Amino acid sequence: MNGNVVIVGGGIIGLSLGWYLARAGLTVQVVERGEAGRGASWVAGGMLAPHAESEPGEEALLPLLVEGLRRWPAFVDELEAATGMSVDYRRDGALLVALDQDDARKYRFWYEFLRELRQPVEWLSGYEVRKMEPYLSRSAVAAIWSPHDYHVNNQLVVLALKQAFTQAGGRLREHTPVEKVIVEGERVRGVLAGGERLEADIVVVAAGAWSSQLAGLPEDVCPPVRPVKGQVVILQMPAVEPVLQRVVWCVDAYLVPRSNGHLLVGATVEEVGFDPHLTAGGIYHLLRRAWELLPAVYELPIVEMLVGFRPTSRDDAPILGPTGVEGLVFATGHHRNGILLAPITAQTVSHYILSGELPDEIRPFTLDRFRR
Ligand SMILES: Cc1cc2nc3c(=O)[nH]c(=O)nc-3n(C[C@H](O)[C@H](O)[C@H](O)COP(=O)(O)OP(=O)(O)OC[C@H]3O[C@@H](n4cnc5c(N)ncnc54)[C@H](O)[C@@H]3O)c2cc1C
Repeated sequence: MNGNVVIVGGGIIGLSLGWYLARAGLTVQVVERGEAGRGASWVAGGMLAPHAESEPGEEALLPLLVEGLRRWPAFVDELEAATGMSVDYRRDGALLVALDQDDARKYRFWYEFLRELRQPVEWLSGYEVRKMEPYLSRSAVAAIWSPHDYHVNNQLVVLALKQAFTQAGGRLREHTPVEKVIVEGERVRGVLAGGERLEADIVVVAAGAWSSQLAGLPEDVCPPVRPVKGQVVILQMPAVEPVLQRVVWCVDAYLVPRSNGHLLVGATVEEVGFDPHLTAGGIYHLLRRAWELLPAVYELPIVEMLVGFRPTSRDDAPILGPTGVEGLVFATGHHRNGILLAPITAQTVSHYILSGELPDEIRPFTLDRFRR
């Protein structure tokens, strides 16, 4: 198909989709109102954790998350080969650590739920957990061990994607806000961006938590996406001996060690709209939980603290593919799984744009489900 595509939003979703479409020979512009990759995609923990993170109520989403993880190794290979950059993809597994008997009861329930869903997890004693991660608190009484949950440095991924996208012939327009999507009759015609009309056969809305704010979308085609705020703290581990090897969770926080020595402590989950502030309470809560889990964090320098907005749909699942308006496509609403789902989103949505066929994996995740 010959086509002229405009993608609204230069996060991990817009950039990875843009890369796939540009490689396929389409004329693609990613239009980003700030610096590409600096939204939620920059702030995220980078966990690729469909197994440990599955929650009761999310059973319908689980097959997409598991398939999303399966597609990561090839995506990393392609991206690293295209750019010569490493994205720190680590297959280290994840631990969900109980710090007292209440936590242990909660995690045991969760463990039984995951086993019922045939997820590959194991139950460990406190002794076994501390053997794996010797710096963990002596209060660790038990844990769920999820060996097939991985993680990646999402900041490196978006930097690599920017390069891969432009190398493949894509045009990245940064500091260019899209003011309006132009829909005429039943068809999309392009966007108004930075005061200029950009004509397009296909417009993809990949504007993360801001997707429902775009002007010009017909009322019944507006994606039901809201911001869910998350604060994180990044600490610096000693270069000689990292105090943590694997991703570790406790009841309402997690620690993600990166190969550059950074230790990300995340994340708050706040329904406060687009409030951009770091808060004393949020950061206090994260650091207290991190210290209870791993006392050595007390000594670690703070590198930075960040706020991001998860793009969260009404049912926490992404909104992908056709919209009912010809040429208008959605790739948004990834909530807390947008890093995990970036490769499968780029592959399936680009397939849809190139062939007109909607892949089975994303059939349950179109906008249509909210109209029924
Ligand atoms: C604290 C936190 C931790 C997370 N941890 C994980 C994790 O461990 N694993 C995981 O899989 N996911 C995680 N997520 C979720 C993940 O970050 C998101 O789902 C994902 O980044 C969404 O990508 P995106 O490209 O849709 O959005 P974004 O990265 O937010 O990009 C959207 C872009 O659109 C731009 N934009 C908006 N409006 C306009 C406009 N009108 N014109 C032009 N540009 C516009 C914005 O400036 C932004 O750059 C986390 C999120 C947060 C906040």
